[in-house]
Amino acid sequence: MNLDHYIEELKTLVNVDCGTQTLEGVARVADIIESLWQREGWHTEQVNLGDNVGPGVFVSNKPQAEQFDVLLVGHLDTVFPAGTVACRPMRQDATRLYGPGVSDMKSGLLNILWAMRGLDAKDKERLAIAVAMNPDEETGSVWSHEWIGELAKRSRCVLVCEAARADGSLVKSRKGMAGYHLTFSGVAAHAGNEPEKGRSAITALARSILAINALADLDKGTTLNVGVIHGGSAANVVAESAIAELDVRFWENDEYDRVHHALNALCEKGFFEGVTTSLTRVNHKPAMAASEATQALMKQVEAAGREEGIPITWQAVGGGSDANHTAALGIPTLDGLGPVGAGFHSPTEWLDIASIEPRIRLLRRVISMR
Ligand SMILES: [Zn+2]
Repeated sequence: MNLDHYIEELKTLVNVDCGTQTLEGVARVADIIESLWQREGWHTEQVNLGDNVGPGVFVSNKPQAEQFDVLLVGHLDTVFPAGTVACRPMRQDATRLYGPGVSDMKSGLLNILWAMRGLDAKDKERLAIAVAMNPDEETGSVWSHEWIGELAKRSRCVLVCEAARADGSLVKSRKGMAGYHLTFSGVAAHAGNEPEKGRSAITALARSILAINALADLDKGTTLNVGVIHGGSAANVVAESAIAELDVRFWENDEYDRVHHALNALCEKGFFEGVTTSLTRVNHKPAMAASEATQALMKQVEAAGREEGIPITWQAVGGGSDANHTAALGIPTLDGLGPVGAGFHSPTEWLDIASIEPRIRLLRRVISMR
């Protein structure tokens, strides 16, 4: 393959500020990737997912197919704010590429394109292949997971092309996650003159954190993290309001049910007399576990790896992706079918140049074995 050509195309995707909230940037990336697919003669369409996010992009060789042999999934957005590209555009050294979203996951999007560019004409004729690229994965796919879910239900399997791990491993399971906001409403009062008339939302918040932490079960990998707190207005005022933002992670969906019910019960009861607590779930991704059907798919990927001379290893990882949603629908789903990278969501994010070509071959082989 022409690696320089690949890197040129990658640069056009990386050097656009396209954090989930930068809607025009996400739309720009959608336009770029759509036109690359159009040049290959594939059917493409942009999908309106509402005014809060950029467009999705759907690509297929057989858009009218009742069932797709494979659904390939990637996301157009990054976590980086506007201005990031000006500070650190894509750059390269002898072995790695760097830049915002270079491995999470602009190169994954491009690997799908390159894998299909080299697909045997007979396979392209025989198989029904769909690609879904969503604009809001980094904020939990709130506006796109139903769209991807509907496509997944029409598909025999789902391959999410997030980057492979730094050691080359693919991803067979992912923790589930849920985000909550806790809002505490107390009674304001002068802290010197009449503190007894106040009910401190901050006191309630402080107590809640200890109760929330106690819901963790480290043996099972269930963790709760209050990562953000806000509250109060001045040191001499009993705080009227406070907010806590909570992140919950779990390997088992039963564990999540336990935590969800316990949180609701705790908040209903309240943490401090006179302060009410309201609990809002802001996002939720079920845990992705390797079902029997998924294990069969793993065997196929391992066979494809043997044919391509690429050793296949697997990891279970704590971060969520769109794979969580499609796996929860019962569709065999694997992840990490992009090139190798690490440092996601940070300025050190990198992509291993030597992994680009073999991982394109691997993805193409997995698809042609369907
Ligand atoms: Zn990603």
